[in-house]
Amino acid sequence: MDVPTDIPIRVDLYSDTITRPTLAMREYMCQAEVGDEQLGEDPTVNRLQDMVAELLGKEAALYLPSGTMCNQIAFCVHCQPGDEVIMDKTAHPLHYEGGGPTPLKGILIRTVDGERGVYSARQVEEALRERSRYNPRSRAISIEQTSNMGGGKCWPLETIREVCEVAHAHGMATHMDGARLLNAVVATGISAKAYAASLDSLWLDLSKGLGAPVGGVLAGSKAFIEEAWRYKQLLGGAMRQAGIIAAAGIYALEHHVERLAEDHENAKLLAQGLAEVPGIRIRPQDVETNIVFFDVTETGMTTQQFIDRARYEHGVRFSKMNGRVRAITHLDVTRQDIEQAIQAARTIVETPHTTMRKQDRAAFQQAY
Ligand SMILES: *Cc1c(COP(=O)(O)O)cnc(C)c1O
Repeated sequence: MDVPTDIPIRVDLYSDTITRPTLAMREYMCQAEVGDEQLGEDPTVNRLQDMVAELLGKEAALYLPSGTMCNQIAFCVHCQPGDEVIMDKTAHPLHYEGGGPTPLKGILIRTVDGERGVYSARQVEEALRERSRYNPRSRAISIEQTSNMGGGKCWPLETIREVCEVAHAHGMATHMDGARLLNAVVATGISAKAYAASLDSLWLDLSKGLGAPVGGVLAGSKAFIEEAWRYKQLLGGAMRQAGIIAAAGIYALEHHVERLAEDHENAKLLAQGLAEVPGIRIRPQDVETNIVFFDVTETGMTTQQFIDRARYEHGVRFSKMNGRVRAITHLDVTRQDIEQAIQAARTIVETPHTTMRKQDRAAFQQAY
């Protein structure tokens, strides 16, 4: 069955991963000085690593092909087989990283039931296992800033300090999945360094809202990064003239951080607009950064029907996560796009339900 390509995507709220490098970013990439990254001879990669180490107040940093690899390598460095990493039940490494810690090193994940992705020091204490030869060893905690499934919620600085204090008191390492750390920095005005201070390892993603095409940068102590290099090599993540792509990361850090505030404003605008559509359930006050979750079940449509109608009837692409509709704003989404998306949602809810042909939907789902 043909995918109905005649309905282009006009407004893409699917994810902040879909951003494309801007012309200025591409031009900057063209100019990058390069060398063999594995030999430590790529000046652009080295510069990006220095920038991120400095930004996060850590001794060293390592450029990696993806955020997923940043998480997986960090767990591999912190843990031995049979060790356990504590994280929230909604955390990315648990749901979207192919079960990585288990096949890679026999590492277990223990979940806690946080509030929109944020858990407390007390919950860490309760999840900790007694030291005994019978138990897996509780070895690390992982926190997600901002919480993706928590709707872009920012971990409060105080909570980060408290959970890290408990973890350290029990000899555990502390890790942050900082895929959207800079969204939290821009939203709260708290520096990346302050957020990073009590963490042994953390990373930020260049390929989400920052708009670079590839990569994440993992940071920590010199000893941590030396060991991380071993796993980068082992996993095939060591590259050659990677300065070409690392340059996009430098460009993003220099030009695309402050503008994240626009994405946050657009997300709020979207939430406020959607809140006025009958049958759509959303709490605009929950929107702190660039992620918006809403529930459409009171409209009589399923989440999938709403998403398909938005896509097919209006060219507005949302995604589905945890049974709800998710919208993410990013640098390829304008204020006018947000107004279009709100109008589309209103029209969908107000006009009679025209269920998409089943075969079109199947074809469409395959397409993304
Ligand atoms: C996207 C994401 C990752 C993984 O990053 P990739 O660069 O896509 O591998 C990890 N954690 C969170 C919270 C994310 O949103």
